[in-house]
Amino acid sequence: MPIPRLFTPVQYLPGVGPLRAQLLARLGIHRAVDLLFFFPRAYEPVAALRSVQEFAENERISFVGTIGDLDQRVTQSGKHLLGAVAQVDGGGFTRLLWYNQPYRLNELKIGQRIVATGTVRSTVLNWEMVQPQLVLLGNDEVPESQKPLPIYSLTDGLKQSSVRRMIADGLPALIDQVDEVLPAEVCELLELLSIRDALRQLHWPTDMRGADNARRRFIAQELLVLQLAIAIQRQLRDSKSSAPCCEPSGKIHSRILNRLGFMLTGDQERAIAEVGHDMNRTVPMSRLLQGDVGTGKTVVAQYAMLLCVAYGYQAALMVPTEVLAQQHDRTLRRSLASSRVRMGLLTGSLARAQRQQLLEQLAAGEIDLVIGTQALLSEEIKFKNLGLVIVDEQHRFGVEQRARLRQDGLQPHYLVLSATPIPRTIAMTALGDLDVSVIRQRPPGRGDVKTYLGCADSKESWWRFVDEQIAKGRQAYVIAPRVNDASDEEIASVEGVMLHLAKGPFSHRKLEMLHGRLPSERKEEILMRFAEGEIDILISTTVVEVGIDVPNATVMTILDADRLGLAQLHQLRGRVSRGTGLGYVCAFPSVGSDADDNQRLAAFEKTNDGFELAELDLRLRGPGDLMGTRQHGLPPLRIANLSRDALLVEQTREVARMLIAKYPGLDHPSLERLKKQVLNRYSQTLQLSDVG
Ligand code: ADP
Ligand code: MG
Repeated sequence: MPIPRLFTPVQYLPGVGPLRAQLLARLGIHRAVDLLFFFPRAYEPVAALRSVQEFAENERISFVGTIGDLDQRVTQSGKHLLGAVAQVDGGGFTRLLWYNQPYRLNELKIGQRIVATGTVRSTVLNWEMVQPQLVLLGNDEVPESQKPLPIYSLTDGLKQSSVRRMIADGLPALIDQVDEVLPAEVCELLELLSIRDALRQLHWPTDMRGADNARRRFIAQELLVLQLAIAIQRQLRDSKSSAPCCEPSGKIHSRILNRLGFMLTGDQERAIAEVGHDMNRTVPMSRLLQGDVGTGKTVVAQYAMLLCVAYGYQAALMVPTEVLAQQHDRTLRRSLASSRVRMGLLTGSLARAQRQQLLEQLAAGEIDLVIGTQALLSEEIKFKNLGLVIVDEQHRFGVEQRARLRQDGLQPHYLVLSATPIPRTIAMTALGDLDVSVIRQRPPGRGDVKTYLGCADSKESWWRFVDEQIAKGRQAYVIAPRVNDASDEEIASVEGVMLHLAKGPFSHRKLEMLHGRLPSERKEEILMRFAEGEIDILISTTVVEVGIDVPNATVMTILDADRLGLAQLHQLRGRVSRGTGLGYVCAFPSVGSDADDNQRLAAFEKTNDGFELAELDLRLRGPGDLMGTRQHGLPPLRIANLSRDALLVEQTREVARMLIAKYPGLDHPSLERLKKQVLNRYSQTLQLSDVG
């Protein structure tokens, strides 16, 4: 058989053949190199090797021995039972038993040398091990103790032992054909194994540390490729164009502050100083402003926009929903009523003619400040001199969209506002290398909310409480997950709740419904009436979740609350912590909700700290994709994890920046392979084509 090459189809590797090749294809393994890079999902640590004298009841051990007799039968309960007597090295016997594994007969022959691992127990006759794991040894092979065994993901019809064997048979010849991707200085700096050593340790680790080091090397490589892509993008951005320098001079600064209308909190002041510092440079600002719901991020955004406009540049504020766009539009118009700032509102539902007019005004520079939804990212939109882009409450906005906003010539400053506590490592990768400002303090007297957990029995008295609050001049939200009852009677719906409340406890109050299916003029009109106090109770889906600001609405009822995530619940609660009065929230779980859901709700009742809740959510639900790269429009990472591998994320960022500074465009023979990986993986999403 000729020596297999890396790109030889697996079928032609020793011990594979067409049938197994089909099974491997299901695991995404087509070529020899795919098998080489088929990462074990875990390792089975081999227990300490023992002789029979050292066996102890119910202890997990390993021993080396030779298969003697084999027998099989069907038990009374219909199970296949395979038995073997193993002669243990150093003397003595152990009986091995497997249920429902008749295929083992194929690999076990009398005289086969083995390492068996499992729990031993003593019977009247001898020692016994049920369902032991086996490593088959060659005749003269001496097993090394404590070597972990790789565990691979399988598919129906493929056995763990055969995957191990295919890899053991095929790889020695292949490994020497694999070329190093990382330059020596990077391996040295990050203390990484060479690619060949790493592959050996991955499949045949000498110990767990070896296996860990192998993984670490490949994780570092994946992260370095990502960090290089981001660093290149940043370099392109910074070199090709420059941002408008907007100095927050004393006069401009105080003129803007006068418009904001209240004393800033210390955290707001600090954030504004950071933003002002960034905008006073020709390197475009790239900043993430984090702060829990109600901490007053909008003020900082407003400051940045007015600073930008003061220097004659345009500013754009992008938000996830139309409702929120309209809300921001209203607040800003109010506070800019007597100024010369010309504002525009761009949403998907704008009539054609109006939209056309707005586009012309933007291109001609006749609009200073535009608020809009994703519609702002449309190709058609041309700005005369866009100086600042602000993105509000949009977890999905990532590097990809940012790349789309890139323009030659003038490069806008960039600010992201988020109430979701985003880990630093995500900010510096998935979101495109952002600096971070944090607001923790709430404006004085704001954000005090009492949260209760309701139950079926307490509903009536809760409605009475809501009614008392309305009698005192307050307004209320009732949140239901659905719009109507179409399919499932069990789930509360806006229309169902409306009917129930209008007939029953609130027949004397003014109720209105709000949900995403209403035309946007209608939504707008309803929100306007709610803001002006003409509606007592707004019954709504979670469309009110993001950013709506009606200070007089201080009571919220959340139905089927267990159907919502903690982050969403907390966002909702933020709606009633806007005014100066105390807010009240009551969350009712759905009928038949289980203990896990209620654990979330209990936490929601207990703490009002968004950062704490986010941590808990992470613990209860696992990292999920929220913090992943896919969420932000990048190809998913294969083995690295931005939260788990936080340290490597930071280290590879340093190394990436160092490499880019030393070898602009990664033009150096030692970086050729690495550069190819960067371009293969990210050139499209990040528009790095100019580097190629
Ligand atoms: P978020 O950070 O959730 O976007 P907002 O910017 O909407 O919060 O602010 C929440 C509320 O607090 C708004 O009603 C806003 O007018 C008010 N607010 C913001 N900053 C201050 C302040 N320094 N003093 C008093 N009220 C403030
Ligand atoms: Mg906000």
